[in-house]
Amino acid sequence: MAQLMKIDGKRLLQDLLVLRDFTDTPGSGVTRFSYGTQDKKAREYLFEQAKALGCRIETDALKNVRIHMPQNKPECKRVVIGSHVDTVRNGGWLDGIYGVTGGLAVLRALKDCQLNRNLELVIFAEEEGSNFGSTMTGSKFITGSYGDPDLDKLKNDQDISLRTILGDPSPADLEAVRWDFAQIEAMLELHIEQGPVLERKGLPLGIVEAIFGMQVIEVEIKGVGNHAGATPMVDRKDALCAAAQCILAAEDMVRPDGISVVTVGRIHAEPDCSNVIPEKARFTLEVRDRDNKKIQTYMDRITAAFKEICSQRGVDCQITRTSSSKPLSLDTGLIETMKGLAEKKRIPHQVMDSGAVHDACMIANHARTGMIFVPSIGGRSHVPEEDTKKEDLILGAQFLLDLASDLTGAK
Ligand SMILES: [Zn+2]
Repeated sequence: MAQLMKIDGKRLLQDLLVLRDFTDTPGSGVTRFSYGTQDKKAREYLFEQAKALGCRIETDALKNVRIHMPQNKPECKRVVIGSHVDTVRNGGWLDGIYGVTGGLAVLRALKDCQLNRNLELVIFAEEEGSNFGSTMTGSKFITGSYGDPDLDKLKNDQDISLRTILGDPSPADLEAVRWDFAQIEAMLELHIEQGPVLERKGLPLGIVEAIFGMQVIEVEIKGVGNHAGATPMVDRKDALCAAAQCILAAEDMVRPDGISVVTVGRIHAEPDCSNVIPEKARFTLEVRDRDNKKIQTYMDRITAAFKEICSQRGVDCQITRTSSSKPLSLDTGLIETMKGLAEKKRIPHQVMDSGAVHDACMIANHARTGMIFVPSIGGRSHVPEEDTKKEDLILGAQFLLDLASDLTGAK
């Protein structure tokens, strides 16, 4: 019976510990960029494990990987478990790779079972965008939201294009990267929460309902540069002070909301000299929420407030919208199945939102998609301190196994 199958928790933890050492920054978190040496080593390790199960491995032109169970048949629909192995710089040891090793643990547990669906483990390439500055690159090519021209547009910090890194794939090879979504029965991603919600509530499991969307703007404020000693305070048109007032106004506006978040992650002053009043200040600002209307409302209020503050200070303010993504709802049927499973196994859980984006977001627009979260200690992620209790890691993988068994009719 499907529900009696068990994850080998010890091997899962062992896999994670082995993979933690594939890093460019030993002793300072995990740095494993896609298409680099450490990424290659991590993949080789995973391939070795999969081959020992008799799995067939297929790598596409983007270096997305599909690991097929030996019992898969061409006529069956696909149940896909997927996540990524790349990290941010000095990131944690679980982001992405936990979903991949959790998937591997599921393949191990089901290797001798009969399945009425094809089961495969997918490694999505360049999810973090650490290399080419664009998140979910592999899954964007899989879904067709990126295509041939993007191979030239995407460049790493040495100005080398993705096309060059991939060895100039042929149009046919690139076409083969795209999935036929009519074949996909479901896609599942297991991931650490990367936030504080589950830990704070003492829950070991989260079932993701919605993934936040976002809007990003770039703000350029132009004042008047002048001598930092000889210019009286009343005569100044300081672009950086105006920016500071704007940023705090945005924070004040969004803070009481409880769900929406606003972030200014990059700021630059010109001429960037200690003894010159800043003439220009440029910063990015993003708002995220599960509700697109709220994002728009906040953006409208924030931009109006910025215009008002800048006009009062006598400085110029230009606002450009740079990117946006819509919030996503994951498959309600899968959410119900997961809730039923969690209740049956008496696992304390919560249906929740994801503030971070994942490969699941790209796939969710095309196929039934479900996401499972386990708690992050201290709510921390993308830092060397990123961690999750061992028992929670095993519980999450077991839950993924139960769900995958259910969806593939494993027996
Ligand atoms: Zn991730």
